Amino acid sequence: MLLRCSVCGLSYFRESGYYVGGMIFTYALTAGVLLAVYLVLLLFPDSKVITENWRIGLWAVSAFVLSIVLSRPAYSLWLSVDYWLEPWRVERS
Ligand SMILES: [Zn+2]
Repeated sequence: MLLRCSVCGLSYFRESGYYVGGMIFTYALTAGVLLAVYLVLLLFPDSKVITENWRIGLWAVSAFVLSIVLSRPAYSLWLSVDYWLEPWRVERS
């Protein structure tokens, strides 16, 4: 994560714990993607090729990988939404 915008100098770290909102966005995006995949999979007949334990492991690994992949876009989204709702000024230091 960059500390500030390289063009205008806008700070990306407003206060300590600021990116808890980004973590919540990461969780929501990950849960949304997994829920969508789950709902699509309900349309297909249950396959007996994969055991229940492997299936649970596959979901867990998918959730872990997705949360890592989606963390940067989610943090960007959090920053954008927060700036859109309550813009803050550039502080030159
Ligand atoms: Zn900028």
